[in-house]
Amino acid sequence: MKEKLDEHCVFCKILAGDVPAAKVYEDDKALAFLDIAPFNFGHTLVIPKAHCHGLSDMPGEYRDALFAAATKIAPAVLRVTGATGFNLLLNNGSVAGQEVPHAHLHIIPRFVDDKVLLGASQKKYEGDELDEMKEKIQAKIAAREEGA
Ligand code: AMP
Repeated sequence: MKEKLDEHCVFCKILAGDVPAAKVYEDDKALAFLDIAPFNFGHTLVIPKAHCHGLSDMPGEYRDALFAAATKIAPAVLRVTGATGFNLLLNNGSVAGQEVPHAHLHIIPRFVDDKVLLGASQKKYEGDELDEMKEKIQAKIAAREEGA
């Protein structure tokens, strides 16, 4: 089956071979290449070989392929870079920092005290807020599973 690509999307252009990329891995559903502006050297992006914006519109077989590919690639990135850990990140939506509107996983190798991805502050639930949030999300998931 020919994958659905978007002629205006830079990652689709990479898939089509119209934009160069430093490819590190490829299978029939996923492609991985080095990020051109890495947080740390070896920072790799894994993309589905079909145009979709994020997790919600990604067909299941591409989602599975994406995570399977990341599982294979991350240990290689660690061995090559000497990193001792990595972040697996998917920015879903522009408000979450997504700049390229073609879903992708970031594999970001991490080193002790590398000061990457700093600046986030954590919030604190008060009173019943934690339970209320839990119940609302559980209810929404259940409603979706029931086809509501
Ligand atoms: P995001 O903010 O999650 O959408 O991340 C997009 C990432 O894609 C950024 O880290 C960019 O550096 C990277 N990027 C954009 N264009 C290219 C390209 N042509 N080749 C490799 N990486 C790219």
